Amino acid sequence: MEKSVVIGELAWPEYARRVKEEAHPILIPIGALEQHGPHMSMNPDVLLPSAIAVAVGQEIGALVAPAIAYGYKSQQRSGMTSVDGHTLSLTVKDVLKEFARHGARKICLVNGHFENSMFAVEGVDLAIRELRWEGIHDFQVVMLSYWDFVTDKTIARIYPEGFPGWAVEHGGVLETSLMLHLHPHLVDMSCVPRHGAASFEPYDVFPPIPEWTPTSGCLSSAAAASAEKGALLFEVCVEGISRALRVAYDARAKAAQV
Ligand SMILES: [Zn+2]
Repeated sequence: MEKSVVIGELAWPEYARRVKEEAHPILIPIGALEQHGPHMSMNPDVLLPSAIAVAVGQEIGALVAPAIAYGYKSQQRSGMTSVDGHTLSLTVKDVLKEFARHGARKICLVNGHFENSMFAVEGVDLAIRELRWEGIHDFQVVMLSYWDFVTDKTIARIYPEGFPGWAVEHGGVLETSLMLHLHPHLVDMSCVPRHGAASFEPYDVFPPIPEWTPTSGCLSSAAAASAEKGALLFEVCVEGISRALRVAYDARAKAAQV
């Protein structure tokens, strides 16, 4: 029981010891409930950053909070059960301030749903501002999306036929490969759509025009996905994020000493 890095699996005295006395960082996955095509479950945006966070937590000695499982709307590009932007911002702010109250001073939001980014950043900004008013000046948050840690070298290996871009990766090779590696029972490759990558106009229309999104719900085909690619992607993300957090937290600690 004591070995777990998952906060929900700890008894409170162990949690309090690790957060307050040992100053472990806390990683908070942030995702969405969203369709990911006919071949996959609707929860990759929660499961993938959560699995990456646990592996990073084991690597750098951080704890992993329960995921924020509802995300911001995907607009034109896919259907989901979402929350409004300000709701997400305030949820992030509240959760950050709670962990600060418990004594945590180093946090990382591990994002798994593209559209969450700026609303999560707003929550971070509000939390830091309010904590300063309360006299807490050493609270640090790293905000990242895991796919930004996939290196060009890995992209070349995963997409030998050419990279379609993260914008159309929804339900595509990246997420499907990672799910095949981590949660294969939630993927059925026999149902993978085989259409080409979606293309979008350089503007959005409200309300959205449904015909502009492929009926499969995928923005590119996951036909080339595999568990081996998933293992490679997982490894590069865990490595990159672990390194980034060591650097960011260390830089803050050094700045505080000056
Ligand atoms: Zn997704």
